[in-house]
Amino acid sequence: MKTSAYKGTLVAPYRSFKPMGFWSSVFPGGTYTANLQGCPWTCANCWSKSGWRESPAKFDLMPDEVAAKIVKGMQRNAQTAGRITGGEPAMYWDHTRGVIDAFIARTEGMRIHVPGATGRRGDPAGLVIETNGAVQMTPSRLQELEDDLGEEAGRIVIHLGIKATSGPQLAQLTGMTAATCARFHQQQLDNLLHAAYKLKHLVVHASFLDEFTDPAILSAIQREVERGRPGMSRNVGVLDFNPYRAPLRAYVPPVVRADFRDDPGAEDDETLHALLPRDAEQRYRIERNEADPVDEPQDRGELADDAIELGEAFEREAGPAGRLSA
Ligand code: SF4
Repeated sequence: MKTSAYKGTLVAPYRSFKPMGFWSSVFPGGTYTANLQGCPWTCANCWSKSGWRESPAKFDLMPDEVAAKIVKGMQRNAQTAGRITGGEPAMYWDHTRGVIDAFIARTEGMRIHVPGATGRRGDPAGLVIETNGAVQMTPSRLQELEDDLGEEAGRIVIHLGIKATSGPQLAQLTGMTAATCARFHQQQLDNLLHAAYKLKHLVVHASFLDEFTDPAILSAIQREVERGRPGMSRNVGVLDFNPYRAPLRAYVPPVVRADFRDDPGAEDDETLHALLPRDAEQRYRIERNEADPVDEPQDRGELADDAIELGEAFEREAGPAGRLSA
């Protein structure tokens, strides 16, 4: 899949749509999730990376089609929010902006009841956009979004996956060049601080990964965010770094598969392991990752070169300010 084919269009490539538990502490019922394809980065903890870039898109969709699928999914699964992740939604900014506008229009006045989790009237519908906050995302775009939506912007969460507290740490995580990472990192912080100092309604969260986080720098960032928008530093947190390992394919004898086919839960993995010969258990681990929407092995070996090449290509395209356009 060539992401350049989507340049200048409102269409974007999607991999899957499904209900997930993510964000359930903020949005009762969790989020109905759309997984976009394509990202110029190659973070070591991400399933997306280069693998998805090379897979053909499952769906090519216009913004209103995406909003319609998300809203229907939320209603069907009693979830109070939708979520666009992937993949890098900001890379297809015109498309993503179109999804946000269509979502807000479709859910105006809508409330979703989640049994046992919301009051009887239900909660307003929210939408989470998970982005690295550097690729095609700029303070002026965030400002424009808030100015256009007004108070309705309070139903949109922009989650900035900043990941690292410095450019060199980001380079370690992504394999991109130090110069590229310095620019991207600066862009991420510009967006975060713009949200803190200038925005009132749009909800902006930020996350860092523990292995790439210097606690002193993180505290300084949190203090600065809090100074700009009291209370916002609560939305700036640290996540565990879990390097992504592509699931390895296990050979499971058909007789075992038949026994466990109908109930493939986590405990069954243990049972399967117990049934496999000891050395096979060592060699083949079935890794079931709730965050992993596809079961496709990816080649980690080529990632470093690939990342450097992509980072440099992107840098050329982005120009000296590290941004494609304002
Ligand atoms: S920026 Fe996000 S989507 Fe892109 S590789 Fe990193 S974690 Fe994955």
